Amino acid sequence: MPELPEVETIKRQLNRKIKGKKIKKVEVLLPRFVKYPLKKFKQIVTGAKIININRRAKLLIVELSNEYCLVIHLKLTGQLVFNGQPTKHTHLIYYFTDGSQLIHNDLRQFGFVKVVPKKELTDFLNKEKYGPEPLSKEFTLKLFGESLNKRKGAKIKPLLMDQRFLAGIGNLYSDEVLFFAKVLPTRRADSLKLEEIKKIHQGIKKILSLATSYRGSSVDNYVDTKGEKGDFVPLIKVYRREGQPCFVCQTEIKRLKIGGRSAHFCPKCQE
Ligand SMILES: [Zn+2]
Repeated sequence: MPELPEVETIKRQLNRKIKGKKIKKVEVLLPRFVKYPLKKFKQIVTGAKIININRRAKLLIVELSNEYCLVIHLKLTGQLVFNGQPTKHTHLIYYFTDGSQLIHNDLRQFGFVKVVPKKELTDFLNKEKYGPEPLSKEFTLKLFGESLNKRKGAKIKPLLMDQRFLAGIGNLYSDEVLFFAKVLPTRRADSLKLEEIKKIHQGIKKILSLATSYRGSSVDNYVDTKGEKGDFVPLIKVYRREGQPCFVCQTEIKRLKIGGRSAHFCPKCQE
């Protein structure tokens, strides 16, 4: 699933490519992909200009020149490709007045597009109760420590993935952050020493920024808006490396189910 680095990459690229463009027409190939009355959706989108593209957690928020925003979730397999060729998994195509286009593909169809009036956007996002943005200035070590203190009994891996605890991290980056911090995914929040909390906090900032600068990780079908894979995969230390040797100590990487999700870790480097 695209996590913060992937969605952030798409946001940045869309701001470079489609900001200021005017939508001439929208083609909806899979009506249920749009969580809004279809006729109204088309009316709102047609003729609107793209003012800006923002991100909150794993959501993309496209601000239109009228009183609406489009809220897009890529979920597991969503792709937004600029000037791409439509495939059998293309559900939406936005045609711009300059002849360019943006296609929205989704193999597994868990993603969606919603229309939210701008004045209701804050309420809409508040309802999701997202935690802080990990790369924001607000997400300080102090705030992280306080948040952990409120969730004493929770295991650290599912906690990092909990969107209400911290926004934007999923399975891949939680594994990588915990390897960086040398902390086992099964550790309870209240067992973490101050040094470990510091390392996890540092790892969150460092790994998410680095992965964004590599345009994310293409472990499944994620591509950026050019249709190109993200380059972070060769830098992955543990995620989906079960049975392979740890790059640091050569011990076999293990996999363990925690709360229904797979955690990957080095049993020697991580404590
Ligand atoms: Zn190791």
